[in-house]
Amino acid sequence: MTDRKLATIRKIDSIDPIDGADAIEVATVGGWKIVVKKGEYAVGNLAVYCEIDSWIPNTVASFLTKEGKEPSEYNGVKGERLRTIRLRKQLSQGLLLPLNVLGKPEDIFSIGEGCEGADVSEELNIQKWERPVPAQLAGQVRGNFPSLVPKTDQERIQNLSREYESLKQDTWSVTEKLDGSSVTFYLDAEDQFHVCSRNLDLKEDENNSYWRVAKKHGIEDLMRRNSMQGLAIQGEMIGEGIQGNQYQTSLDFYVYDLYNTRTGEYILPIQLKATCERLNLKHVPILSEVTVLDMPMENLLTWAEGKSELNASEREGVVFKSNSIHNRSFKAISNKWLLKNGD
Ligand code: AMP
Ligand code: MN
Repeated sequence: MTDRKLATIRKIDSIDPIDGADAIEVATVGGWKIVVKKGEYAVGNLAVYCEIDSWIPNTVASFLTKEGKEPSEYNGVKGERLRTIRLRKQLSQGLLLPLNVLGKPEDIFSIGEGCEGADVSEELNIQKWERPVPAQLAGQVRGNFPSLVPKTDQERIQNLSREYESLKQDTWSVTEKLDGSSVTFYLDAEDQFHVCSRNLDLKEDENNSYWRVAKKHGIEDLMRRNSMQGLAIQGEMIGEGIQGNQYQTSLDFYVYDLYNTRTGEYILPIQLKATCERLNLKHVPILSEVTVLDMPMENLLTWAEGKSELNASEREGVVFKSNSIHNRSFKAISNKWLLKNGD
C-alpha cells in the first residue's frame, strides 16, 4: 500500500506495431500499454510515464487539449485528465513524455540508473484527478486522518510486473473491488470513536453519509461491546449519491480490512472473514479464497472483468490480498469498466 506515484521515470520495455495503423505504435512500460507516435520512443529509452487519472497541466502537454478548445480546469490548474482510451482497437492507458519535459539536459538521466522509478509528479505539477465530492460526503473536519492508521490504498497490478514472480510464492484471497467511498471506523486507545473518509477525520453530523452509515450499522456500539480499542475497521460505503451508485442500492457498508494499531498489521483474510461473521458485518464479496498466481499477469486483468456480485453491473475490478503476509495486496481494475466509466 503506497502513495500513488502518478508520473515516474520509466524504461520502455517494448514497442510494437498496431494493426492497420501507420502513424502510431504501442509502447509497453511495466504492465501498461500506451499508444505513441511512431518513432518517438525506442526500446530501452527512459521516458516519463503518467498514469491514468493524472491531471496533466496544459503547460506540460498542451496537445492533450483538442484544437480550438479551451483546456478544462482542476484545482486551479488548466489541463486535461488522462483516461483509458482505445485507438484503432488498441487499449491505451496514460501518457509517455520525453525526458526533456523535466527541463534538464537528457544526459543527466543517463548517468545514474538511479533515476529510473523516480517520482516526478511534483516537478511537473501533476495531481491525481478525483471526482468532485457531493455535499453529503464532504462533512465537517474534526482533524487529520488518525496517524496510527494507514490510509486505504491499493497498488495497481500494472506497476508490479517486476515483482510478479515473487508474488507467485503466496496464495491470495480475491475480493470484488466496490466503487464507493473508503470509510475507516476507528476506536482509539483512549476509547474515542472516529469516523473517517479517505483523508480526514470527520465531525459527527447527521447529514453526513459516513456518519449515517456508522449509525445505521451501529458501529460505535459494536466496537465498544467487542473491546476493539486500538482497532480500525476499513471498508467501502456504497449507495445513493456515491460514485454514481452503480449498485442501485441505499446506503450500505462492506468491510475489506481490519487494522490493529498495536501490532501495526492488517489481519489476514481468513481472520477478517471470521471477524465479519462474528460482528455481523458484510464482507466485500469474496471471489476466491485461495488463488495461486500460476498465470501470466495479463490474465489477472481479464479476470478483473465481470459482473458485480451485488447486481448486474460491470464490476470495477478485483483486489488480491496475501493469505500469509500481512499488509500485502494489490488491485486489478477492469479495463471494460474503465472504458465505460470514462465520464
Ligand atoms: P482506488 O479506488 O482505485 O483508489 O483503489 C483503492 C480503494 O479501493 C481503497 O481505498 C478502497 O476504498 C477501495 N476498495 C473497494 N473494494 C475493495 C476491496 N474489496 N478491497 C480493498 N479495497 C477496496
Ligand atoms: Mn475507489
